[in-house]
Amino acid sequence: MTELRGRKALITGGGKGIGRAIALRLAKGGADVALFEVDEGSAQKTAISIEEMGVKSLYLRVDVSLQEEVEKGVEEINQRWEGLDILVNNAGITRDNLIMRMTSEEWDSVLGVNLRGAFYCIKAVLKGMMRKRWGRIVNVSSVVGKMGNPGQANYVSSKAGLIGLTKAVAKEVASRRITVNAVAPGFIDTEMTKALPQKIRDLFLNQIPLGRTGRPEDVANLVFFLCTEEAGYITGQAINVDGGMLM
Ligand code: NAP
Repeated sequence: MTELRGRKALITGGGKGIGRAIALRLAKGGADVALFEVDEGSAQKTAISIEEMGVKSLYLRVDVSLQEEVEKGVEEINQRWEGLDILVNNAGITRDNLIMRMTSEEWDSVLGVNLRGAFYCIKAVLKGMMRKRWGRIVNVSSVVGKMGNPGQANYVSSKAGLIGLTKAVAKEVASRRITVNAVAPGFIDTEMTKALPQKIRDLFLNQIPLGRTGRPEDVANLVFFLCTEEAGYITGQAINVDGGMLM
């Protein structure tokens, strides 16, 4: 499938896990894919895999929580590729703790990457998309942003915030044929969830009607569709990819 041929995409945190799967899916669809990553080793591996698919890739070491780095990174892509058509805000971290014990540092670091980082990236790419009068923005939220989760007040707030950001920006830019959507994954097997104790994994598994945890590719397939021309009448949505966990 080559629906995205000629499109230029930026994936944040695209080196591994869900971000890598999204990067590879968009590349398979024909898009050139740039990565903002802090994990250099994994980003370079993903960039090589993208190029093996016959499209261009570009890895930039950018911490999305730093506005200056984001702006410089987008400027570099604009110079090399003449603008971006697709942004996927995927970079995310967790710093779990019960609210009574949660420090300001734990709160700020999670909000800084997951929500403020998305704000910086959207601001940096929007001008180019407005000029082209076409764009696709997909924010990777989480089902816990809709249902809550104990021990994750910072993470849940960031993911709920991303859904609000999605809706507000969707309304602002709809007249320019730019769509803004969120995807809300459930329990997906990546490094982020590998760290969880088996007891917690089993607890989640019991709540999934489809009876299995998700694969990064399950999320990537939805993100890919939201980036195509065919998804042009979908905006401001937060779509679950969770095996039916939250209905
Ligand atoms: P992951 O395996 O930890 O991958 C996230 C990637 O983002 C890592 O390579 C990470 O680098 C990078 N990153 C972290 N901070 C960054 C920053 N400041 N700037 C740029 N890149 C940064 O996580 P994942 O499970 O694939 O999750 C991807 C997204 O899906 C996240 O937003 C997460 O919240 C969301 N999500 C995941 C699940 C799940 O079950 N896995 C469920 C719902 C939502 P380092 O490893 O060096 O930090």
